[in-house]
Amino acid sequence: MRLPAFSQFVRTFYALSNTTLRAAPAPLRPALRPTALKSMPTIPFLGALFSSSSQQTMSYPHQKSESEWQAQLNPEQFRILRQKGTEPPGSGEYDKHQPDHGVYTCAGCQAPLYTAKQKFKSHCGWPAFYDTVPGAVTRHTDRTFGMERTEIVCSNCGGHLGHVFKGEGYPTPTDERHCVNSISLKFSPEDPVKEKESKA
Ligand SMILES: [Zn+2]
Repeated sequence: MRLPAFSQFVRTFYALSNTTLRAAPAPLRPALRPTALKSMPTIPFLGALFSSSSQQTMSYPHQKSESEWQAQLNPEQFRILRQKGTEPPGSGEYDKHQPDHGVYTCAGCQAPLYTAKQKFKSHCGWPAFYDTVPGAVTRHTDRTFGMERTEIVCSNCGGHLGHVFKGEGYPTPTDERHCVNSISLKFSPEDPVKEKESKA
């Protein structure tokens, strides 16, 4: 089951909340009791805690209503892509995935976001990419938790992917780490980006 990974997540969450959420609302605390963790995939407050307020007014080419998204996506995809949730570290299907070729598309709208060549081993617990398919990913400032981070979303549908961090010293061409939820992605061994380029 996923409980051990989630415990780790809760520890991370505690660490985070102890340093950045000094005024954590009291009603959240009972929900972190082990008895409540069994209902983790549908706990709405997690989505709310990781949410960003900067994106509400953005519009994207691929528009769907929340109920349409809910019908299309499974509950975990909906929580992460549409409610800006975060999957537990080390739990994702693509965390340690290191194919030679192929492309990672948006799990919401199938837009190509990252190529296999752009993926690198960050050992952070989530898939990491040093660059994107050109224009595929849009950045927003995320000021939740009293920090200033850069949220990344799919430029086509606005689906939440994760965050991007710069200057961490990884030996990549950009020194950027796109820290992406596996659940926001779908891997395809075909590479439509490359095929398009070679036909052009
Ligand atoms: Zn998308």
